[in-house]
Amino acid sequence: MTSPAPKRQRIEDAPITRSNIWYDDGSVVLRAEKTEFRVHWGVLAQHSTFFHGLRGLPQPPDQPSVDGCPLVELQDDAVDVEFLLKALYTPTFLSQAALPLVAVGALIRLGRKYDFRDLLDSAIVRLTFENPRTLEEYDTLATSAGAYKPTRILPYQGLTFDIISLVRENGILSALPSAYYRVAQTIPLIIDGMQRADGSVASLAPVDLRRCLLGREKLTHVQMQKGYALGWYRSWCPGNNCTGSHCVTTRDARLQGYLDRPQLKALGLFIPTSIINNRFCDACKQGIELLGIAGRTRTWDELPSFFDLPPWSELKDGL
Ligand SMILES: [Zn+2]
Repeated sequence: MTSPAPKRQRIEDAPITRSNIWYDDGSVVLRAEKTEFRVHWGVLAQHSTFFHGLRGLPQPPDQPSVDGCPLVELQDDAVDVEFLLKALYTPTFLSQAALPLVAVGALIRLGRKYDFRDLLDSAIVRLTFENPRTLEEYDTLATSAGAYKPTRILPYQGLTFDIISLVRENGILSALPSAYYRVAQTIPLIIDGMQRADGSVASLAPVDLRRCLLGREKLTHVQMQKGYALGWYRSWCPGNNCTGSHCVTTRDARLQGYLDRPQLKALGLFIPTSIINNRFCDACKQGIELLGIAGRTRTWDELPSFFDLPPWSELKDGL
């Protein structure tokens, strides 16, 4: 039995095909892998300094051409080029509420490589919307139950793992802390990744896996310290205005529960569960809510440091 041919070889053996993006009045043909796209110099040059410069170069006499148009061979995935051209030629493409991550990734990769600045910026906006640098923005992404559901990138199992790879490889660093935090929820999730619908597994590269493991370790420890999200369990006592008879025993029981079954709750939303509503008096409930909010804010401010990243102010989305 012979092993299947590598992808590259299969692509080299494949015939050249024309994409649906083929304008009869196009003035340049792009070829990526074995797919050709006939488009317009003017459109490419308007949006890309690379193509603007390339268009101005003198054409050598032996310049390969297709249908009388100069041929530009790109060392990029054909799928990426197709998404880029859709974004350039189809006005409704970028106005969609949510795009697939493969499209966002194409705009990031080719936007950086060829300096399609507007397309690149629009893709960064989507990624940083889903993975923001402020706690207020992060909280707007949560449902009433505290769950996260992406709205500007189409959701799928393993999305956050793939986002981590994309933003780290392309220097969109402000998106990393919140994405790391989402993945750091459990150790099996960090180590094993998550299976996508097609059976493949979205997982972390070693550098990300290390950051998430160490970050989870630090966060689960620090969250119980005074001044952090759950620190009040240890440091708080009912004040003189306490009118309840179960406030202390409830605090102790919840503290013991967390100690017995440590969970990552460093950024957990303060949700007034039935236990909090029924077992704490109103005065204590207000007090612990304020402590919890202050703890979340402090955790967020320090979040990059737990994952061995520079402070928020130094986390650029530079390229
Ligand atoms: Zn009380």
